[in-house]
Amino acid sequence: MAVRMRTYYDKAYKGKKKDFLNLLKERIDSGRRTFVVTANPEIFMLGRKLPEMNEALSDEETLIVPDGIGVIRGGKQLGYEFEERIPGVEICEELFAYADQKGRSLYLFGAEKSVLEDLAARVRREYPNAVLAGCTDGYVQDKEKVFREIVEMQPDIVLVALGAPKQELLIHRYYRRGEKGVFIGVGGSFDVLSGRKKRAPSFFIRHNLEWLYRIASEPKRLKRFWDSNIKFLFELRKEKHGNR
Ligand code: UDP
Repeated sequence: MAVRMRTYYDKAYKGKKKDFLNLLKERIDSGRRTFVVTANPEIFMLGRKLPEMNEALSDEETLIVPDGIGVIRGGKQLGYEFEERIPGVEICEELFAYADQKGRSLYLFGAEKSVLEDLAARVRREYPNAVLAGCTDGYVQDKEKVFREIVEMQPDIVLVALGAPKQELLIHRYYRRGEKGVFIGVGGSFDVLSGRKKRAPSFFIRHNLEWLYRIASEPKRLKRFWDSNIKFLFELRKEKHGNR
């Protein structure tokens, strides 16, 4: 039977960003193992297509937050209300600050080498109390091996920026091997946090048009946008009218 979007929507976090960030901080403090998916329509569509991604999203321990407005608008069609977006970039920044405040350890995995170096330099400069347990760029040959080693190190926070579904599949496959750690798939966030790519101007963010800004500044995203977001709307419509 086809996967229903409602499976993901039922378990997605619908509350305020601030409350979610507090929940993550509690989990860091208590050492409770946690996996966060920062969802956009593309991620939900990948769940329908790939059985292992579906498993990762459906797992009762996996937390799903609405990174993109597409997830929130789509949810509305099915009757789900979300308080607000919880973008991966903002989660990262908040956790950098928390690691700095509490002296927690942090591992950065993903993005191009020079991007990662810039981000690591920023973290060392702006968050000097955070313990940078290590960083590895996302173009190493054996990502599985690198990730298994990261899990063994047991840092408090592990940010994985390899793009979907790679980052979610890796985390889902291995994160339970360690005893603790908050693991988050953060997509292109390192590009923004390093200063390499600009986040959309605040006008776009405030009006929920960040997606439009991203397509306009990187037109090659248009096909991806069509493939995931437009098909996503069709799927939701089918589901809403009971064809699934
Ligand atoms: N990336 C990587 N290794 C790969 C492929 C991609 O580290 O083999 C990185 C890429 O450099 C970028 C991120 O993964 O920083 C994916 O970014 P994208 O904007 O595609 O992700 P989105 O936020 O749209 O999911």
